[in-house]
Amino acid sequence: MADNKLLSVKADRSPLVAVKGMNDLLPPDSARWEWLEDKVRALMARYGYANVRTPIVEPTALFVRGLGEVTDIVEKEMYSFEDAMNSDQLTLRPENTAGVVRAAVEHSMLYEGGKRLWYLGAQFRHERPQKGRYRQFHQFGAEALGFAGPDVDAELILMCRALWRELGLVERRDVRLELNSLGQPAEREKHRAALIAHFEVNAEALDDDARRRLYSNPLRILDSKNPAMKALVDAAPRLLDFLGAESMAHFDAVRAVLDAAGLAYSVNPRLVRGMDYYNLTVFEWMTDRLGAQGTICGGGRYDGLFAQLGGKPTPAVGFAAGLERVVLLLDELGLFPAPAAPAAYAIVPKVTALPQAMVVVEALRAAGVAVLLNAGGGSMKSQFKRADASGAAHALIFGDDELARGEVALKALRDPQAAQVTRRLADVAAWACELRIPQP
Ligand code: ATP
Ligand code: MG
Repeated sequence: MADNKLLSVKADRSPLVAVKGMNDLLPPDSARWEWLEDKVRALMARYGYANVRTPIVEPTALFVRGLGEVTDIVEKEMYSFEDAMNSDQLTLRPENTAGVVRAAVEHSMLYEGGKRLWYLGAQFRHERPQKGRYRQFHQFGAEALGFAGPDVDAELILMCRALWRELGLVERRDVRLELNSLGQPAEREKHRAALIAHFEVNAEALDDDARRRLYSNPLRILDSKNPAMKALVDAAPRLLDFLGAESMAHFDAVRAVLDAAGLAYSVNPRLVRGMDYYNLTVFEWMTDRLGAQGTICGGGRYDGLFAQLGGKPTPAVGFAAGLERVVLLLDELGLFPAPAAPAAYAIVPKVTALPQAMVVVEALRAAGVAVLLNAGGGSMKSQFKRADASGAAHALIFGDDELARGEVALKALRDPQAAQVTRRLADVAAWACELRIPQP
């Protein structure tokens, strides 16, 4: 920023707010995110996927080359800027697959064979903010690199189902799976000619985006969100009808696993996904409960991406899910557990008791008990009020009389019948287990 611009920014004293479409995540909502993130982490571990974290800022060329120039993301959604220090062209990542593939090539990660990786992090797209659509949003996703499938294609889809199930989402009622195959480049080439012919005879019905993409990337027209284009898109030639025996065999093999696993899906021949890098298997998980932002997860095979980014040709497949949309869905269905409360609240009536109280509270925490310490003093009554409001199951009262006897008073806050008892300060470890309550 030029110096004079900086000066005027500094002189302004109006309160600052977050950038439009970029949200703060605050308690108690953040606890729900952590709960969901823990589920994702555990799921990935069960399937043998290792965590990977790539930079939020990447060279702009990574996405232009990786996603394709004629895509919504590259044409109008990227936050791109020039690095003022060295004029590098940079972009806030709009998705994570290209970054993961770049990292895999850069670090020769597939030297000894395939790699299963997963990530979770912020992505950035300049879109019109609305429910389920933001400018900074978060994705978790998995990438199976160096596997030609169809086994891993099916594994990734089953992995998504395992997560939905664990979250309490009921297959078919809350989420459903759509599946398609995009075949191989040569098959797409033939389909492309038929597609252009179809849209040419209906040229007057095309919207501006479609007209612009008619010759550069007609497949993208099938991904149009414009309702006025729906009839025309529905009548377009189906890519599935152009697939050869090998592509069909791959598709059938994926379907056979899903069938055997009792996973219902529908084949949607219009499902093309937003990026150019996909081939063969593509899929989306959708819900009817989030309006127009109904896709919670999308993925597919991208065997051409490694070469596109300058690596050795390498088969790969992956998916990405939108964290905000999954959170909205779980919220809508009331599937989040009740927020966790501390096991105990430490009441310290006199400041002179603080050193002794603190030693006990630390010992309890070391034993795995969540203890909230009353901070800032206050009368016995107000401290009890805070203890109650904290949701803690127990109050620990460090009163002078008890401390003088080498004890602390313990009171169950949620059970009106329970009498106040005392516990010895000397053997905290022995009674810590009484306070440890299972976390959801
Ligand atoms: P959409 O069709 O809704 O724009 P997309 O096809 O652009 O989605 P992908 O690039 O496939 O989305 O990203 C995978 C997932 O990430 C989506 O299914 C969605 O759940 C989530 N997602 C994508 N864009 C956003 C956004 N702007 N805000 C919130 N979540 C998003
Ligand atoms: Mg989009």
